[in-house]
Amino acid sequence: MVAEDYLSDQEIRDLGTESQAPFNPKPSIEVTLEEYDEWCKSWKQTLIVKPLGKRINLQTMERWINSRWGRNEAIRVMDFEERFFMVRFSCQEDYGYALFEGPWMIADHYLLVQRWRPLFIPQKTEVQKLATSVRISNLPTEPYNKHFLWKVGMSLGVMLRVDELTSIHSRRKFARICVEIDLRRKLVPSFTALGKDFKLEYEGLHQICFSCGRHGHKMDGCVELAEETKQDAEKHGEDSNRRHHRGGDNAGNLRQGK
Ligand SMILES: [Zn+2]
Repeated sequence: MVAEDYLSDQEIRDLGTESQAPFNPKPSIEVTLEEYDEWCKSWKQTLIVKPLGKRINLQTMERWINSRWGRNEAIRVMDFEERFFMVRFSCQEDYGYALFEGPWMIADHYLLVQRWRPLFIPQKTEVQKLATSVRISNLPTEPYNKHFLWKVGMSLGVMLRVDELTSIHSRRKFARICVEIDLRRKLVPSFTALGKDFKLEYEGLHQICFSCGRHGHKMDGCVELAEETKQDAEKHGEDSNRRHHRGGDNAGNLRQGK
């Protein structure tokens, strides 16, 4: 067998001209919108999860996810960079359960659960979005409808759903919606409508530290984060001192092979 047996006539003809093509250090790969759409389809029922402040291995994660969320079908878990996991559901009900029924804790650490999004690349500084249930207390009967609750959700972030149960008046002590919020922003504590103020309560989020992932304190009271910031500041101070001594000699860096 020779290589030509595996090639088409066109490819064999191309072989002769290939070597004459100029070197391109950055070839551009064309992807059509149709192709891209097709690839996205299989990821739509996927969640991007990350245990905050704790390294958890794939086996443990897989076991935990399947025992908590795999109520109907087995769930595929893949590990990703920066401690992220891709969780692929084949059952829509299981997917909804994991997304809407949090907050989830794994080994005492908060599990960040996000919807899959196109071109997601895990980075430490990645925008942290999360789906959370929000309660609205003391809502009068008139605005107690999906249309109004949807408007409230949109003002907080990306509205995901109105809790079906709260639409039934038998449970009308509070209204409950599910919203995707951006963790870099502060939680909106209240809103105003029809001349009245309404308080918002984020289920399970009030005492979670989004830095170390533990329950019982907020990020601004995190000892671990304060320690890290202190160390960073010290390190930064050392670095700038070193630069200062070297007198900003960039060639020095080059010589050290950096
Ligand atoms: Zn903390």
